[in-house]
Amino acid sequence: MNPPAAKDAPASFYEAHKKIYPREIDGRFQRLRNLAVWVLLGLYYLLPWVPWDGRQSVLFDLPARKFYVFGLVFWPQDFFYLTWLLVILGLSLFFFTALAGRLWCGYACPQTVWTDVFMSIERRIEGDRNRRLKLDRGPWTGEKILRKGSKHLAWALLALWTGFTFVGFFTPIQELAAKVVSLSTGPWETFWVLFYSFATWGNAGLMREQVCKYMCPYARFQSAMFDQDTLIIAYDTGRGEPRGARARTADRKSRGLGDCIDCKACVQVCPTGIDIREGLQYECIACAACIDACDAVMDKMNYPRGLVRYTSQKSLEGGGTTVVRPRMIVYGGLLALLVIGFIVSISMRTPVGLDVMRDRNALYRKLPDGVIENVYLLRILNKDTATHRYVLTAAGLPGIEIDAGMTEHVVGPGEVYSVAARVRVPAAPAGGSHEIEIHAASPDAPRLKASRTARFLGP
Ligand code: SF4
Ligand code: SF4
Repeated sequence: MNPPAAKDAPASFYEAHKKIYPREIDGRFQRLRNLAVWVLLGLYYLLPWVPWDGRQSVLFDLPARKFYVFGLVFWPQDFFYLTWLLVILGLSLFFFTALAGRLWCGYACPQTVWTDVFMSIERRIEGDRNRRLKLDRGPWTGEKILRKGSKHLAWALLALWTGFTFVGFFTPIQELAAKVVSLSTGPWETFWVLFYSFATWGNAGLMREQVCKYMCPYARFQSAMFDQDTLIIAYDTGRGEPRGARARTADRKSRGLGDCIDCKACVQVCPTGIDIREGLQYECIACAACIDACDAVMDKMNYPRGLVRYTSQKSLEGGGTTVVRPRMIVYGGLLALLVIGFIVSISMRTPVGLDVMRDRNALYRKLPDGVIENVYLLRILNKDTATHRYVLTAAGLPGIEIDAGMTEHVVGPGEVYSVAARVRVPAAPAGGSHEIEIHAASPDAPRLKASRTARFLGP
């Protein structure tokens, strides 16, 4: 006999994790998701191998503090572009979530994308949903050890390749590959390859939907961006209820049934293990697997598709969905302005920088012929990927001229070129201190020019 439960035993707030065994599904949204997986993972794994101008096309060279993105080179001075990009990404999330709900989660989030791949490896090695359930519930046999071991080996290889590729965005990937082959990677490279591999294996292989449910902050606040017109994935209660099993040929109307045959196909395919028929839930990542599953059932029953579909709360209540509404206009307008501004700013970006520092040893010098001279240290920063010649000039005072030893200064790609420059005016200007301008311009291209103001001191 079981002992009676203690009367005052505290209620447990902890719910043990129930492993989910999603059923494989085919359908139009699943094909769209497969396409997204191929495109996004293809970009991730291949981009570091694509050469560009004799180097890696995308490389975030942290020690040299230079970010290469195809033909563009970003320096620490260009940091505001990163901030700008982050603002665009944040606003895009607002815009697309208000428009079509959790599109990001369902189709593009790395957690979803890698989980899809890990699950497909699992299906290939351990079998479909029923075989996986049977395998997990059965005793440890030779076959179970072999299947589980093979799955983890395949996962580990993919996770290691993922970690290696991640580090390959920060260290030239061909050099990294050579180091991996000769087992001579540095401590940080080794750490990040293993850490990223472990995170991939843990998140996509083991934790899966728990990352979305318990760790992702977006799941918690995305509903604040929803309104009555936002596209959501929903079950049409008015059409589906009362639910109930029936034969394909049965007349549902005479039996007082709705279109839902209570087959639970929508629940079995759900990667987060929820029942869409219970309404909008924060666990739903909007993957649309339940739409594909239910559409297949509707086809078999000869009922119209769309019992579970993309719709809006307003539409479910009998109204129409308004796509163009004030918040969409505000988000969309701001987003368009930011994106256009970003593209224009990047395309007009001057790939040359100039720094001017006064020589602090002497305020000024008066030469025997009455000429007043100030000395500056100039630094020309060639942010371009080609070598360029630069000519220095000065302006702001009558008869001003600059002498930096030679007429043209050759600066290599990515080079910071320092030179001492003597700026002279023929006679002492009245007033002691004057603002002047120093220019560095390349005869190679009109866009290669930079200017700085400086103080010119006299008696
Ligand atoms: S309820 Fe449907 S859309 Fe939401 S996570 Fe489950 S299967 Fe995907
Ligand atoms: S798949 Fe469709 S018919 Fe089957 S239980 Fe889900 S909603 Fe009902």
